[in-house]
Amino acid sequence: MNQSFENHFAHVCEHARQSAILQSVADALEWDERTGMPHDASDYRAVQVSTLRAMHHKQQTDAAYGERLQQLFGDLPQTEHSDDPHGDVACTIVGLHRDYQRNCKLPVDLVRQTSEATVRGQQVWDLARKANDFAAFAPALKQIIALKREAGSLLSEGGDPYQALIDEYEPGADVDALRGVFESLREPLIQLVARLKDAPRQPDVSLLQRAFPIEGQRRLSRIVAETIGFDFNRGRLDETSHPFCTNLGPNDCRILTRYDSHWLPAGLFGTMHEAGHGMYDQGLRTDWYGLPPGSYVSLGIHESQSRLWENQVGRSLPFWKWLLPKAKACFGGVLDDCTPEMIHFAVNAVRPSLIRVEADEATYNLHIIIRFELEQALMSGALQVHDLPGAWDDAYERYLGVSSPTAANGVLQDVHWSAGLFGYFPTYTLGNLAAAQFFDSAKTDLGSLDESIEQGNFANLLEWLRQHVHRHGRCFTGGELVEKATNSKLSAEPLLTSLRSRYQDLYGGA
Ligand SMILES: [Zn+2]
Repeated sequence: MNQSFENHFAHVCEHARQSAILQSVADALEWDERTGMPHDASDYRAVQVSTLRAMHHKQQTDAAYGERLQQLFGDLPQTEHSDDPHGDVACTIVGLHRDYQRNCKLPVDLVRQTSEATVRGQQVWDLARKANDFAAFAPALKQIIALKREAGSLLSEGGDPYQALIDEYEPGADVDALRGVFESLREPLIQLVARLKDAPRQPDVSLLQRAFPIEGQRRLSRIVAETIGFDFNRGRLDETSHPFCTNLGPNDCRILTRYDSHWLPAGLFGTMHEAGHGMYDQGLRTDWYGLPPGSYVSLGIHESQSRLWENQVGRSLPFWKWLLPKAKACFGGVLDDCTPEMIHFAVNAVRPSLIRVEADEATYNLHIIIRFELEQALMSGALQVHDLPGAWDDAYERYLGVSSPTAANGVLQDVHWSAGLFGYFPTYTLGNLAAAQFFDSAKTDLGSLDESIEQGNFANLLEWLRQHVHRHGRCFTGGELVEKATNSKLSAEPLLTSLRSRYQDLYGGA
């Protein structure tokens, strides 16, 4: 490296590390807000967090920092780092340059208007949902769509706004390719779900609705999180009403779950899901914390890590052969009449329903496909806001065979659009697809994964994920990572195959 290149590089890294400090402090305050903060502290907390976020934004759009980045980006092809585009130096420069450009492409006024419209939008949405009144929400939604469309146009420099919006959550993803994958998933899923409805065997879901004391659920969640590999020396597990995972520093990952005394899956799978997110964060390289090589690659890949542990591991028979004796010990007799096979069938129950967040693994993706198709139509103008409820109901009828008598449980059920999160929904299904594809490859590479899981040994699977996903940070795009780890492009096949074979065994004749 020549002297000035080296200097500039050190400067921008230091700048980005400072930004990460501000961001992680704001995240710590938000974690506190959602766990133990006294109710009346909320006003001042909002001021604290927004002050830090504003400082963070100012730092990220600092002009001198931008000039240095531009210089580095321009010089990169003349350095030896261009021989290794996925190396740490090139990845840092390209990643930070991309973030800077993105941050600067949006005029301050538009950012402010969007922030105001979405804060208000969420309040209006909340009231509209309670009043079961879509018309009350429609004007706010129209305004948010117009603002997001404008942002998308500016970001894509006149190209497809939706592509630019997706790019925020899934950098490098191609909307056309994504559409193709989602389409190849849709019809087979619709048929699979319809067949299961009339299958000869049906699960006994009531096993999971027995009385499970919260203290026992806490013990069980801790055992599971610890055994699958969440590092409690570098993280915590707490409780909240809306579970999430947040990373407060290179050695401080917080996961949160929620227990329901009459629904075992909520706490247990919630914990596995968040622990999956947490183990990804814990697997990132700490020496690059706050910089692209030590950052997660995309929301879809983050979600693939949570879904892999929750669904591919947690809903498998080998897992229940290991866990059931421990669960019995935690619940003093409540599950004594159950076999691993009975619980395995119950946690794989498939039933079309209205509410996305309560959906099973198979129908969940149909809920997402509906949102993916509708938000593209909204963004392109092919669908007008006043026609949205009708389009929503039609899609639910066609894909899931259910219809909601109320807007509250239909088109008004999700907060995302009111928060301006267009392009976010598809990352959930991307996560499911990538999870199945990663799990398949890990199985092939590791040979006897089922046997290990049955013995409660998850170390080899976690190590596989560390090597193939976690340690790469943002040095590859999500799509590149999938292809590199599994030798094939992201596809719907591994998920469909996994679901079909599991349900075939359970439901019979499906
Ligand atoms: Zn998640």
